[in-house]
Amino acid sequence: MVQQSHSCEALVLRHTNYGEADIILTLFTAEYGLQQGFAKSARKSRKRFGAVLEPFTQAVFQWKLGRGSFWLLQDAELINSRFGLRDSLLRLALASYGVELVGLLLEEGQPHLHIFELLCSYLDYLAASGDETTARLLFELRLIYLLGYMPHLLHCSECLKIFDHEDIRFDAARGGSLCLACAGFTGAVVDLATIGSLARSLKVSHRQFEGFSFGQKTVHEATLIFKQVLELNLPRQPKSLKFLS
Ligand SMILES: [Zn+2]
Repeated sequence: MVQQSHSCEALVLRHTNYGEADIILTLFTAEYGLQQGFAKSARKSRKRFGAVLEPFTQAVFQWKLGRGSFWLLQDAELINSRFGLRDSLLRLALASYGVELVGLLLEEGQPHLHIFELLCSYLDYLAASGDETTARLLFELRLIYLLGYMPHLLHCSECLKIFDHEDIRFDAARGGSLCLACAGFTGAVVDLATIGSLARSLKVSHRQFEGFSFGQKTVHEATLIFKQVLELNLPRQPKSLKFLS
């Protein structure tokens, strides 16, 4: 039986050499989520795939279904190679971090159009020399939101009191923000202005990275908040995080 050929746009998340000449790719697509692709003899013949098999590259792939759920890659047409990421070690590390988070937090084969768009926009912004701190903050915030892991922000997670101007604490394991009465002696100190800034940042498109500016305190506290939330949900610590810190 002749296998039907399919075609679909995908982002290369990971590239692994296999055997003598083959390459296995972890691909992320809007329609089919995360997929494993097999590029036979790709290291022998550069003609067929050229540079499209590198991480962070976006291309239209032609594929047939292989054994299990593997895609047998036939051909690819480059859309965007994001060369700008290679100019800076920090940008490359942040790109690796974004890609690794998505790989760890999404199930294989689970489509998620908005997370696909978020990751592509994040990589585009970094490749175009966007501000690294803004990129990471907005990416983590939106990824947490789109995955449904968003903690309570503007009210106390336990008594539901809406914050006005008081001191607050944050504890992801207890649901998010806490008023002092509920927090007792636990939770990290966060400013209501930080919480408000994060909540406002969620009101614009998940694809927009331009036009933001976060103060040092907001960045520091947001990092603390996202670290807690991600640690609660990640199966293991991302390898790229060690390099980043
Ligand atoms: Zn409370």
